[in-house]
Amino acid sequence: MIRRIALMLLLVATGYVAWVIILNLSDGKDGSVASRTEPQREAVPVAEAGRGGLVIPVAGVRADQLSDTFDDARSEGRLHDAIDIMAPRGTPVLAAAAGTVEKIFDSERGGLTIYVRRPGGQWIDYYAHLDGYASGLAEGQKVKPGQPIGTVGSTGDASVEAPHLHYAINAMAPGEAWYQGKAINPYPLLVGRKPSPSR
Ligand SMILES: [Zn+2]
Repeated sequence: MIRRIALMLLLVATGYVAWVIILNLSDGKDGSVASRTEPQREAVPVAEAGRGGLVIPVAGVRADQLSDTFDDARSEGRLHDAIDIMAPRGTPVLAAAAGTVEKIFDSERGGLTIYVRRPGGQWIDYYAHLDGYASGLAEGQKVKPGQPIGTVGSTGDASVEAPHLHYAINAMAPGEAWYQGKAINPYPLLVGRKPSPSR
């Protein structure tokens, strides 16, 4: 009798464990956020962000003067996720690509910033530490590649002794707002090299 009860308990326990495993497996297939959003990002290859060639977004700066600072460490364990283009304060900042000014924003870290969303919506060009904006620049305005949109400065957390443009390209998933997105490295796109696969 005791033997039979023990056997039944064992069977019930085994069934329970099997059930938990099955539930977990099915959950992993369609329940995780990562598996739902990743394919959308992968759908737009990084090289597309440089299609047709980008304008180096600081007047008078040549490709061979750029350096790749994308993976540099920043405070609080962050990575840089952008490149810094050094230039004297007041040097014109140019739109790297065509788009619509989505947000003009004064932030603690970035200082005076501009977010320009490209046609199609998949990319946002981000310009930070500006000394000032081009006169009349407004949200909703369309800009052409090479159009002056501001000037190099050191607003936000940039060093006053080293004015520069902080330039980023963010890959935007459908529906993402200007402050979201995932940074891709602008350096290979600006110097005309084949971009390495995103990390
Ligand atoms: Zn920077």
